[in-house]
Amino acid sequence: MDCIFCKIIAGEIPCHKVIENDQILAFLDIGPVSVGHTLFVPKRHAENLAVGSVEEAVDLMKAVYTTAPAIMKAVGASGYNLGMNHGLAAGQDVFHTHLHLMPRVDGVERAFVKMHPTQEELAKVAVKIRAEIAV
Ligand code: 5GP
Ligand code: ZN
Repeated sequence: MDCIFCKIIAGEIPCHKVIENDQILAFLDIGPVSVGHTLFVPKRHAENLAVGSVEEAVDLMKAVYTTAPAIMKAVGASGYNLGMNHGLAAGQDVFHTHLHLMPRVDGVERAFVKMHPTQEELAKVAVKIRAEIAV
């Protein structure tokens, strides 16, 4: 199957990993709208939430719930936006269910404009987040 997120999950394409469990992989978005912008992805392929399972929806929120504090601490955020582009009409580009967590820092404009960090910059952010998760 020609799905970029399945390839990331299979380890065929690299990613800057945030967390992984049996159900979910979370990694940094390559085109983040804020520092620490993370994608939470069910490991089982489904085009979107509607054709997945309710368990996957719950697993996604559980992973967000447990990981968000560490992501926020790592990037100095005090809030976050959660978002899902569900379906073509909503602007979904990658047709494998994913939930965006976009950390927000007090006083920093809440833009939804993609930035273009280098791989090194993304790697540093991922290291900081994983260090907070390990605490
Ligand atoms: P959506 O489908 O919700 O519109 O957005 C897909 C998201 O996946 C975009 O924010 C885009 O930057 C991100 N993305 C697309 N390809 C890759 C990739 O190969 N690696 C990573 N880490 N993110 C990707
Ligand atoms: Zn997939």
